Amino acid sequence: MLNHGIGTWVNRRAQRMREDSAIAFRDRRIGYEELDERILRLADALRTRGVRAGDRVAYLGNNHPSFLESLFATTMLGAIFVPLNTRLAPPEIEFAVDNSGATTLIFQDVLLDLARAGTWSTSAQRRICVGGDDIPGVEDYDAVVASGADEYVDVPVTLDDAALILYTSGTTGYPKGAVLTHGNLTWNTFNALVDYGIGSGERVLLISPMFHVASLGMGALPILLQGGTVILHERFDPGEVLHAIQSEQVTMLSGVPTTYQLIEEHPDWATTDLSSLRHLTCGGSSMPKRMLEAYEQRGLHFSCGYGMTETSPGATAMPPHMSMEKMGSSGLKQFFTDVKIVGPEGGMLPPGDVGEILVSGPNVISEYWRRPEATAEAIVDGWLHTGDLGYLDEDGYLFIVDRLKDMIISGGENIYSAEVEGAIMQIPEISAVALIGVPDPKWGEVPLAVATLDEGAHLTAADVIARLDGRLAKYKIPRDVVFVDELPRTASGKIRKGDLREQYAR
Ligand code: ATP
Ligand code: MG
Repeated sequence: MLNHGIGTWVNRRAQRMREDSAIAFRDRRIGYEELDERILRLADALRTRGVRAGDRVAYLGNNHPSFLESLFATTMLGAIFVPLNTRLAPPEIEFAVDNSGATTLIFQDVLLDLARAGTWSTSAQRRICVGGDDIPGVEDYDAVVASGADEYVDVPVTLDDAALILYTSGTTGYPKGAVLTHGNLTWNTFNALVDYGIGSGERVLLISPMFHVASLGMGALPILLQGGTVILHERFDPGEVLHAIQSEQVTMLSGVPTTYQLIEEHPDWATTDLSSLRHLTCGGSSMPKRMLEAYEQRGLHFSCGYGMTETSPGATAMPPHMSMEKMGSSGLKQFFTDVKIVGPEGGMLPPGDVGEILVSGPNVISEYWRRPEATAEAIVDGWLHTGDLGYLDEDGYLFIVDRLKDMIISGGENIYSAEVEGAIMQIPEISAVALIGVPDPKWGEVPLAVATLDEGAHLTAADVIARLDGRLAKYKIPRDVVFVDELPRTASGKIRKGDLREQYAR
């Protein structure tokens, strides 16, 4: 075979596993041999419809077997898979489809309105719908799969070829299309296998959508490489997750802190048998201490990690047995990956000093799609400048402090917004908060908190400021607190501080 890409993984596995379940979805069990056959047919059908190496195929949908089939079929052809976030607004979908230049769009019927609103006028002239027939100008997905031949076609693919274009969350501006190569994803998978100890026979339940890099890179890909089972729920429902852990004997969960929190708060949490669980991976933001303790009490250790779209996504990972001892840390650099902390002049900083986090390694992207300036800014001499601030302790454990862009400089003092937000979140009536800097003639910038309250709660700015008094240095305490009904968020739930800064600049 001349194809060394991820597109062949299920095919290679199918020779060894055949009957074993690759995917569990509702009451369907898709064995490796059956999954391989569907991928081969879809690849052939896409080729017949003109998809060639380097072309982009976009996918808009929730967790569903067709996501994985499309991913493997597209990349098997040497074409590039572009997963779209289903929570995006139509213009954001349109941006991603246009920017990637996708010629084919595969979408789920429940998202027809979003697909039509966002992309009907764009480059994606070939449209395939999962679960919906009789839409003018759109082919039915299952009919497309059935039309293809069940034959492997060897297309030369190297580890340096692009496999995915994944758009970043857009927290700091417009999303950028990170180009993840077959090599990036392969090495990230090796990192996950080594650092999380993922073996054969694992059964992972993805509790976040697969269009996020974490579910794919830390969940589906390593498990399928090892011949395990990927259990898919179309949407996240904590009660169903608890039920499935027991009935499906789940060994691994992959999600973000909020999903783990909703599971722990569910009434069935206390009565569910969790003894099959071996690995809990999470990332994207920091895991609250209370949550680590709640799971620890059930004998479950977290492997929280730090990462991002650009690192496919693992940069650091917490060895599970260290998660209490190194509370608050995001772990050690991943096995094949390097992390360093540099100061404003670019020099490496000693342990304990806060600076920008740089990452390098075979899982780190080399470019943003058609954004040479953004690429040159982010990747310098082989190191990715993450835009995140943190420090390494004496043992090499990473502690994330804040995003560089979110740091406020007031009277020459650095204020890490994440630290102040953490303190404000300790106030029980506050449900969410963002700290931003607003211009001030004397201090340059002063911190302003924008917060939402729990339903029915009453609190004034003076109350918040009084409760922070003595707990934070004076210059870190917000000058004022504005209460709003809702904070502006990205499709992945992160607060858009740029919008807030613009709004409150005066
Ligand atoms: P954009 O790059 O478009 O502004 P984004 O950075 O939010 O969006 P993602 O790649 O989804 O897009 O998110 C990665 C970011 O999430 C990291 O750079 C970091 O700021 C944050 N993050 C990831 N893991 C952790 C963690 N364990 N603790 C704190 N923050 C984290
Ligand atoms: Mg980013």
